[in-house]
Amino acid sequence: MSKINVVCPHCGGVNAIPLKESYTKAACGHCKNSLLDTKPLSVDVSSFDRLMLNDERLILADFWAPWCGPCKSMAPSFEEAARSFPLKAQFIKINTEEVQQLGSRFGIRSIPTVIAFKNNHIVDQFSGALPTPQIIAFVKKHL
Ligand SMILES: [Zn+2]
Repeated sequence: MSKINVVCPHCGGVNAIPLKESYTKAACGHCKNSLLDTKPLSVDVSSFDRLMLNDERLILADFWAPWCGPCKSMAPSFEEAARSFPLKAQFIKINTEEVQQLGSRFGIRSIPTVIAFKNNHIVDQFSGALPTPQIIAFVKKHL
């Protein structure tokens, strides 16, 4: 069975898991916490780079800021969309106020901007708040 590397959202440990259509149970081999948690993960530069270099799944990064109204209004939709993809995709949040380095690395000009990454490459992106079904459709295009 082919395997895929995923980075545990709890401890950052790398797990090789069997590639499946869907998952009902998966625990991290390092910290034993569930790998099925879908809550978007807030990242800094080092945890972002660790994900990019070690995680082979689709990574959805929401670039946002605390002062941005549309960002706040999209946050629940982003979180809800994430619940449709346990272990299939990792949703992350990048606070562009706190982690300015990543905002400038990707030339983020307007927020919210969501970038889809796979194996450390940008595969797609959108700017402006989208409702849950459209975020889900965007993710499904790239799975
Ligand atoms: Zn872990």
